[in-house]
Amino acid sequence: MGKGICRVEGCDGVVQGKRYCAKHYRLWRKGKMPKPRYKTCNAEGCRKPRERRGLCAEHFAKEYGKQAQEEAAA
Ligand SMILES: [Zn+2]
Ligand SMILES: [Zn+2]
Repeated sequence: MGKGICRVEGCDGVVQGKRYCAKHYRLWRKGKMPKPRYKTCNAEGCRKPRERRGLCAEHFAKEYGKQAQEEAAA
């Protein structure tokens, strides 16, 4: 597996650090990159990105169970 590409949307630079390419990683270290866009799950102690209704996919599935599966399948 390669190192992957930069997490910045529209940038296809090779990852250097923190999932940024060399150029964006330099900016990130200077504090010039915005924070990740996603907010984290509302569930206590969970750091996963929110998927739906303030919860990550895992907690959303727990909370909404079958309904969530049906929505995902649709
Ligand atoms: Zn980049
Ligand atoms: Zn969660």
